[in-house]
Amino acid sequence: MSKNNDVTKVVVVGGGIAGIYFAYRLLQLVDARVVLIEPKENHEFVIGIPMAFGGLIDFDQLLFPLSQLRRVIHVRDNAKALDGKCVRLASMPSVCGDYVVLAPGAYKLGSVEYWNVEGAKKLWNNVEKAQSIHFIVNELNPVIGFQEIAYAIKTRFPEKRVSIHLVYVADDYRFLLNPWMTWAEAKGIEISEDPPQHRPGDLYISVPSVRPHPLVADLEPDPATMETQLERVYLIGDAALLKLGLPPIGWGALWQASLAAQAVASEITMGYIEVEPDIWSSMSDPEKFKNWLTYRMTSGTPLIHIKGLYDTWANKVVKTLS
Ligand SMILES: Cc1cc2nc3c(=O)[nH]c(=O)nc-3n(C[C@H](O)[C@H](O)[C@H](O)COP(=O)(O)OP(=O)(O)OC[C@H]3O[C@@H](n4cnc5c(N)ncnc54)[C@H](O)[C@@H]3O)c2cc1C
Repeated sequence: MSKNNDVTKVVVVGGGIAGIYFAYRLLQLVDARVVLIEPKENHEFVIGIPMAFGGLIDFDQLLFPLSQLRRVIHVRDNAKALDGKCVRLASMPSVCGDYVVLAPGAYKLGSVEYWNVEGAKKLWNNVEKAQSIHFIVNELNPVIGFQEIAYAIKTRFPEKRVSIHLVYVADDYRFLLNPWMTWAEAKGIEISEDPPQHRPGDLYISVPSVRPHPLVADLEPDPATMETQLERVYLIGDAALLKLGLPPIGWGALWQASLAAQAVASEITMGYIEVEPDIWSSMSDPEKFKNWLTYRMTSGTPLIHIKGLYDTWANKVVKTLS
């Protein structure tokens, strides 16, 4: 192993939900040198974006400067390719480690970028001005989160008309959306399988689509540990969930980050891999996880639950890494 002061070096690509939670769990379990490759200067708690639409929090409170995380070394750059256990970067020399953990999220295709804080703020400005807001889903794999945003808008502005148009949804996504839709209708959100009629002044939001991130195109994670076919190279988060045929949901990202952290930590300390599902999942295989997700989505994700998660994130996860 290449070591610095005898400490194992772990390179993490992507400082989103999965990458940050992985670093937190790993450093709880073992001493390691964590190098985080992330092009943005902030970690973004994107699960909380609907809370900002609902007025529970300011958009900027979802940003955590990576410079404050003293327990990880932030390299501000884009990962371009994997080369053994080295990560080639866009504008700096490669970074190599004993382990590489890839968490670059899903690749999103679409112009309404509500999946990042800056894009969500722009959408919010348009939402404030419109009287009717229509979400149109016409994608194989829609970016999840539009339902929570719709609910947040309707809760904050009961006088606004909010509708969701499920023009096309892949069968794989029905298990996730159908129960949620019943719940949303009860809250006053109109649901339709037809496209909306165009009226001047209304806001039309085409829900974008997700694809596996191109950086990890050739990698296949083992769902038991999240290690890929390449030894000591792990894949977690939205990118891994899509590879496993699961929807890209934050709870899944946390579950995988925890498994990968335990796998890496146990190998460092004991020489073999031993993992145990933790509080975020309470289960051990993707099929059970899918059932659990269906249960969660049946009642929607109330914003107040997200607020609880946000408080834990800010006060525990981010604070521990600072
Ligand atoms: C509005 C919204 C609401 C949501 N609500 C919920 C919810 O209520 N419950 C729930 O469970 N899930 C929810 N989700 C889904 C959840 O946010 C995602 O599943 C989760 O963020 C995935 O984590 P991740 O780390 O895999 O990806 P991300 O959080 O997207 O992070 C990926 C990171 O990788 C970085 N990156 C990308 N490419 C590169 C590269 N080449 N090199 C280096 N870094 C790179 C990105 O800049 C980013 O910081 C919501 C999503 C959205 C958008």
